[in-house]
Amino acid sequence: MGSTPGDIFVHRGIANLYTPGDDSMNAVLMIALINFKVKHIIVAGHSNCVGCQTALRSSMLPPVPETQAIQRYLKPLTQLARAMTTEDGPPSLDLLVEENVAQQVRNLLASQVVQDDWKRRGQYGVTVHGWVYQLENGTIRDLGISQGPPDSKPGKKILPKLF
Ligand SMILES: [Zn+2]
Repeated sequence: MGSTPGDIFVHRGIANLYTPGDDSMNAVLMIALINFKVKHIIVAGHSNCVGCQTALRSSMLPPVPETQAIQRYLKPLTQLARAMTTEDGPPSLDLLVEENVAQQVRNLLASQVVQDDWKRRGQYGVTVHGWVYQLENGTIRDLGISQGPPDSKPGKKILPKLF
């Protein structure tokens, strides 16, 4: 990416999930946006995600009370997998990985932290992107769902400068 040390601020979590009540991640986002004035948040999912595999498996079983940490943590993802299940069966793992990235992008866009950033920085506020990292060949797929603040000028591409 042509970046130097300190350019990229990383937060890792199982299956790149974001929920509004996750204050560990809210704190990371606040430091990133307020202190480091980060301009781009990238939700980077990846192929063969074990978190997504686990949620997909749970979604195929009858619902049970979430007694384990991993079940509680993955609940929104298990619900997403259930919602994507049709009469033809459950979604493929690749599809769930992709839809999960899109859902987390939507969750971030709706979050208090991002909404506050847009109020504070106006058209220069943060843009949220969704990517899937293909482990098999080391490539990154941009899902094309990037969204910035309401007043940001579409077509004014800032991202390529990063690379
Ligand atoms: Zn994963």
